[in-house]
Amino acid sequence: EVVVVGSANADLVVRVERRPGPGETVLGSDFDTHPGGKGANQAVAAALLGGRVALLGRVGDDGHGELLRDALAIVGVDTRALLTTPAPTGVAFIAVGPDGENSIIVAPGANARLTPADVDPAFLAGARVVSLQAEIPVETVLAAARAASDAGARTVLNLSPVPAASTALLGLCDVLVVNEHEAGLLLPGAARAPAALLALGPRAVVVTLGADGACVADGTGEAFVPAPRVEAVDTTGAGDAFTAALCLRLARGDGVADAARYAVRVGAAAVRSPGAQASYPSAEDDLPG
Ligand code: ADP
Repeated sequence: EVVVVGSANADLVVRVERRPGPGETVLGSDFDTHPGGKGANQAVAAALLGGRVALLGRVGDDGHGELLRDALAIVGVDTRALLTTPAPTGVAFIAVGPDGENSIIVAPGANARLTPADVDPAFLAGARVVSLQAEIPVETVLAAARAASDAGARTVLNLSPVPAASTALLGLCDVLVVNEHEAGLLLPGAARAPAALLALGPRAVVVTLGADGACVADGTGEAFVPAPRVEAVDTTGAGDAFTAALCLRLARGDGVADAARYAVRVGAAAVRSPGAQASYPSAEDDLPG
């Protein structure tokens, strides 16, 4: 019901007292390697919540690629369209502060080799929702958005990170999902006024507001959706859990505001423990709020 077209990265995580400024070195905790990347995170999160999910992407023929394949397979994500590339698997260097906030550098590796030709329209044919992010080449995201719309699927675009040329993409997506920072990059001031982003082309807009929750806008108006209060341990991948939950509910027929009310609870659940995928709730778990 959900096909994710996107990135898979190994997350190399270190916890620090303070994130380093330019020219500065800080000592951190022991270092951990976790499966991550927005595409893989969203696929795993949606599968854990009970969705039938596939990931179309690329990993390298290396240990990190194997780690990612295993993490996807164990939760039942269809990886037939996860291709292998003679390039290193994507890697994200993540520093997590004591407040749970993170700073991230991504080396895209194999993700940068996912081309428009890799997007097999037949693979998208059964999807109700196609979930896209921007950690793969923008031409590939565009090709996937076109193929999704030809297949009659709804496209959810998590425009993260915000690419230089996103105008054509915004015109092709049904639901745009961005955080406050990304909303501000697209249109200054839009973080608290998501309806302004409708002018860029999407049919609905969701701006995530961290601990505050999310704000939703569609043709009928704006709604603020508060997140439940939880103790934030590690916010890595919270936005991906949010987007996955949103996609799943949209695939099952919910409107955007109802889907967002569920997604803030899933996002909040994902910040309560360390890691991205490791912190995701499953369909059986009690969600906060
Ligand atoms: P991103 O991780 O992409 O920057 P946000 O920080 O806006 O996105 O978080 C996405 C979602 O995760 C929020 O809408 C909310 O549901 C949940 N979330 C994030 N941080 C917290 C927090 N401190 N407390 C509760 N929920 C949170």
